[in-house]
Amino acid sequence: MVERRAKAPEREVRWERMFPDQLEAAFDAVPAVYLTYGLCEPHGPHAALGLDALKAHALAVRAARRHGGIVAPPDFWHVHEIGGYAIWAEREIGEARPWLTAEPPWLHFKRICYHLRAMEVLGFRAAILLSGHYGPNYLDLRTLVELIQGELRLRLYGLPDFEANRPGFPGDGADGDHAGKVETSLLMALEPACVDLGRLPATAAASAEERFAAGADAARSSAEAGRRMAAGIVAWLGEKQRQLLAAYDPERPSRLRTFGDVERFWVRRVKPRLRHFASMQASWYDKPAPDPASRWYANWRPPDDPP
Ligand SMILES: [Zn+2]
Repeated sequence: MVERRAKAPEREVRWERMFPDQLEAAFDAVPAVYLTYGLCEPHGPHAALGLDALKAHALAVRAARRHGGIVAPPDFWHVHEIGGYAIWAEREIGEARPWLTAEPPWLHFKRICYHLRAMEVLGFRAAILLSGHYGPNYLDLRTLVELIQGELRLRLYGLPDFEANRPGFPGDGADGDHAGKVETSLLMALEPACVDLGRLPATAAASAEERFAAGADAARSSAEAGRRMAAGIVAWLGEKQRQLLAAYDPERPSRLRTFGDVERFWVRRVKPRLRHFASMQASWYDKPAPDPASRWYANWRPPDDPP
């Protein structure tokens, strides 16, 4: 007779679900943190709206279980509705179903500065910022990491998840897509209850409202491909975390310790460059501007003098 044994519960690494003694033991073992970002936006009728942050958070959870570290609460607000994002939304979402949890770049990136200040003061030695949401915002995350790294003892790396999902990895790897077979396969592997391929429209000629921003190849998604991609990304994150921890130096200065420090850093170092951020450009997608009659016109034009 086969003996049935209860599977040991997975080690808890999600900050908000840990007891304080668990959190402190995890911190003592590996003082590294994952900060994950995405937003709720149309990802096809077949995928949960929060795909981007669900995916980034679940990847970080797997990485922390395997390689150590703590996963901060996921952030489901991100850059959209501005510049090329508005143009993308006009074409891919349409006018009828505008389900976004969007915020402007200046708010998003300032909040990240505050998140990093908190991690610095708590004494983390490494932080990986993982964005599940694409468009050019990841270029700005890179810029922000370059600007802020000199102020922090904490070692940083910021990336979109597709950067760790390279061609040549086992599976279908490669560049990120939007609610196509890459993202859908990943979500099938990571959060199976959040995908239902039966909800995809039957024909390729479906309207924008019916497609709800689904990728053209979403029907070719598979959990098995998603599992292979996830394994590659988790290994990549573990290696990056080891590199960051090895680069930690307690002699480095730590200059972002108060809310005032963050505000002064923002005004001095980030604000003068904001106008040049990739996500602050009027058009990086398809055409120069949304149609003035479109709902996506309202927040399209980036301000000349962002706060
Ligand atoms: Zn996505």
